[in-house]
Amino acid sequence: MIANIRTAMRAQGADAVLLTSQANRRYVTGFHSTAGVVYISEKHAVFLTDFRYIEAARQQVSGFDVREPGDGQSYAAVVNKLLQSDHVHTIALEDDSLTFDDYTDWQDKLTAKVQPQRGMMKRLRAIKTPQEVEQIIAAQRIAESAFLEVLDDIRPGVTEKQLAARLTYLMLYYGAENMSFDPIVVSGANSSKPHGVPSHKEICDGDFVTMDFGCIVNGYCSDMTRTVAVGYATDEMSAVYDTVLRAQKAGIAAAKPGVTGKDLDSAARAVIEDAGFGPYFGHGFGHGVGLYIHEDPTASPRSKSTLQAGMIVTAEPGVYLPGRFGVRIEDMLYLTGDGCQNLTESPKELLIL
Ligand code: ZN
Ligand code: ZN
Repeated sequence: MIANIRTAMRAQGADAVLLTSQANRRYVTGFHSTAGVVYISEKHAVFLTDFRYIEAARQQVSGFDVREPGDGQSYAAVVNKLLQSDHVHTIALEDDSLTFDDYTDWQDKLTAKVQPQRGMMKRLRAIKTPQEVEQIIAAQRIAESAFLEVLDDIRPGVTEKQLAARLTYLMLYYGAENMSFDPIVVSGANSSKPHGVPSHKEICDGDFVTMDFGCIVNGYCSDMTRTVAVGYATDEMSAVYDTVLRAQKAGIAAAKPGVTGKDLDSAARAVIEDAGFGPYFGHGFGHGVGLYIHEDPTASPRSKSTLQAGMIVTAEPGVYLPGRFGVRIEDMLYLTGDGCQNLTESPKELLIL
């Protein structure tokens, strides 16, 4: 990990990097902290954190010199000493997570020339290590257990909010440390809003219920969506569901290293367009998942990503008929040497409860 950062650092013409965001600190040290900075140069790899974390960090973090700035010193003061002893001319900062105010503050305080990282950490984080994939799978299995169990609760009279609460409870019960995001549970006409908010609306016979949810294990997110019908599904509902499922399968079949995010999106979009629902698929096919719920790569008509082995990308096409109903089905794919492994095991044939 540190070696990869040094390689990327050299490629950008920087002599050191400073990692300030919670996610990047956790990514490189494996340690969760709400405060601290990571300094990496050719000679040093230092994790600076405060009194609240220092004891645990010293026990758990390996590969880094773990220090606490003493005597009321600021992180900047300690970093400046390192910059001096390492003869650093240029240090790269996290321009994609620091506020403008924080960025200029570091710039003012540090004695070396500051330059933006320009997506360096994003690109590194897009390729998952086997250990990261393990955490994502663990989070996914918890979400799947919750899905299986929440199916028993979906019946006329129960509200979207109650189902969202139940999903949250079940994921925590099965060991999640938190939700990846607030679960989306939308039904009937509400299901035409891709990111609708669960309401007090009761589930009715003839509703589609779309549930988009995920949880966090050791900092890593999972993400899945399933749409089920309650009581019955009209021929039109079945046709839309079948279209979305075929589109998702076409996308999954196309997912392999070397394919662009744009082409991956097109593989699924073509199925939806051929079925006449093109205008009703208004978002991208997928996104990366990791320490954040949305990471690189992206798979959409505007994507600039190219898929590489080790990336994770979601497969989540949908069709949304305004004021009527919507369907989305989402799995997480792990890109391997010659294709992909679907990390989602929940069934996705149309379920009528
Ligand atoms: Zn999702
Ligand atoms: Zn997603």
